[in-house]
Amino acid sequence: MDIEFYGAVRTVTGSQHLITVNGRKILLDCGLYQGSRKQTYERNKQLPFDAAAVDVLILSHAHIDHSGNIPNLVKSGFRGDIICTYATRDLCSIMLRDSAKIQKYDIQYLNKKRRKKGLPLIEPLYTAEDVVESLMQFIGLGYERPYQVMPGLQVTFYDAGHILGSAMVVLDIEDEEANRDVRLVFSGDVGRPNRPILRDPTFLEEADILLVESTYGNRYHEATEAATDKLERVVNATCKRGGKLIVPSFAIGRTQELVYALHRLVESRDISPKLPVYVDSPLAIDATGIYRLHPEAYNESVFEFIAGDVHRDPFGFDMMRYTRTTMQSKELNFLQEPAVIISASGMCEAGRILHHLKNNIEDPNNTILIVGWQAPNTLGRRIVEKQPRVRILGEEYELRAEVITINGLSAHADRRELLEWTGHFSKKANNAFIVHGEEEASFALADGLMEQGYPEVNVPVLGQRFSI
Ligand SMILES: [Zn+2]
Repeated sequence: MDIEFYGAVRTVTGSQHLITVNGRKILLDCGLYQGSRKQTYERNKQLPFDAAAVDVLILSHAHIDHSGNIPNLVKSGFRGDIICTYATRDLCSIMLRDSAKIQKYDIQYLNKKRRKKGLPLIEPLYTAEDVVESLMQFIGLGYERPYQVMPGLQVTFYDAGHILGSAMVVLDIEDEEANRDVRLVFSGDVGRPNRPILRDPTFLEEADILLVESTYGNRYHEATEAATDKLERVVNATCKRGGKLIVPSFAIGRTQELVYALHRLVESRDISPKLPVYVDSPLAIDATGIYRLHPEAYNESVFEFIAGDVHRDPFGFDMMRYTRTTMQSKELNFLQEPAVIISASGMCEAGRILHHLKNNIEDPNNTILIVGWQAPNTLGRRIVEKQPRVRILGEEYELRAEVITINGLSAHADRRELLEWTGHFSKKANNAFIVHGEEEASFALADGLMEQGYPEVNVPVLGQRFSI
């Protein structure tokens, strides 16, 4: 059998790994490569293999760097099944449409420039219609339910603890050419234990071939702070000053964790039950609806919280408001009383959060609460660094609001947690491949695996093929 690596090798985006066995082609993930506009367009558009020749796609989770090129795969002739967990399928239905929308605006922007230069105009990678078309090919599975994909190939998903629906993929393959049974384990993105909503990542026992992510292969997370305690203190301090708490947050995952944490604080009366909390992001609102539909992914604490009442909503309470329309969003500009406003994007690069920052950043009574990693050169990073003046929507503002950061909420395992996971296998894979990390991170994790006794560890380059 062969494995070819077509993305997320020596980088973190564009996850695509192609397995050829028994004359069949199995694609693991079909993510978008994300980089500079110019580079990404061509690379994503031209699939490096014949889409029509792929028999099946197995998807680890819904993040765009793992799922975002699916509509293009289908548009390019792929007619097989797309197999993932139920929650991943549901999240894809909103995330891929959102991705189509972003691409539409990106292409409009690019074409405006190209028109000026007299260059031919370009088409978006795919449209919302292509997304809906591709959704027809999805098949949902439960966790730990082995499923016969085709003769000689069985797939089983295990909890990855990364985002709702995220899975580790176990493929049991009867390799006819080599007359052997092979177990291939693909880690997907590995999450962390003790997350607010999701169950812990699963430790697996056996693998012949292992593909493991390495996002934080060379780094340790800061100790998880008692995030809820800090949240409580920030909310109460801001309310006492009569200010507003503005929280830039990723629409999927972090927003739902925050809402659930606030719900618990309201219920224990640690924060005022009269404090209005707003989620101001249509994507986050849609994603919350999907979180409600998937109790099978919840951990014990959420189970206990909803025990005995099927209609108890972890993501809803008296003063919780979801503002979908632009009108509702604009009304938040006129709020006088203390409130919590959670909005996207998480790094303050686009979306409604920009308006809330613009309106609230100059008042020292307000707090901006940062709950996620902020990439260099983003507005979010400038806020974390507490730069005295920042540009928002083309205008300069003084950063006078208090800025508080809650660390340790990452959805990715760090080096210690990754090695704990790879170290847990009682049968170490003969062939291990390190994917989904920057070069240094991948090599650092590779060293860790070799120290654990993995006999052969590779860090593939783009397009590299291995015969096993
Ligand atoms: Zn991910």
